[in-house]
Amino acid sequence: MRPSFRAPGFYGQELAPTLDLHTHDEGAIRRVLKNIEYPDRGRINLHIYNLPYNMSEFYNGIASSQLNDKMQGPTGFILLGRCTSIPLAMTEFVLPHEMGHCYQYRYMPDWGKDGKDKAWKTWLKMMGIVEKSRNDSHVRHHESPREMFANTFRIMFSPYQHEFWPHKAKHPLKVKGLKAYLSKVLK
Ligand SMILES: [Zn+2]
Repeated sequence: MRPSFRAPGFYGQELAPTLDLHTHDEGAIRRVLKNIEYPDRGRINLHIYNLPYNMSEFYNGIASSQLNDKMQGPTGFILLGRCTSIPLAMTEFVLPHEMGHCYQYRYMPDWGKDGKDKAWKTWLKMMGIVEKSRNDSHVRHHESPREMFANTFRIMFSPYQHEFWPHKAKHPLKVKGLKAYLSKVLK
């Protein structure tokens, strides 16, 4: 099943409405979704919420990580609203980025017992990233390996903003065999 799209609406009590915020353009969302190459040939079931809510101007989207060790739980993400109108470039960036978090949580967990994080560790190694800690809350947001993965996914599986790689690690397109490896494990 292809990722589903839901119009703005009520999501949950943790996101209290703040202002009448601008949301992503629905036509832009559908166009971006169409242009993403799905590594699992569409078997992942994602719920995408486009909401006029936000908690801070720092966040553009939130992906769910409510999966347990058996990889069960909801998978999806919220595209958050902004005070100013949202340019197409932001939709092109945020959507495949948040989708990357969902694919990582579903298929390449960085948690769990019995080597469940094997694919995650292989990706780190291929990228030459040294993970400082599983709890990445103390590092700057952009430098956390999960953020680097979300951008790796965007660059590998969407046609958008390949030049935007705000990390010290090497650019994913320069890593030999990476796309083939990710295509194999993300399903
Ligand atoms: Zn992110």
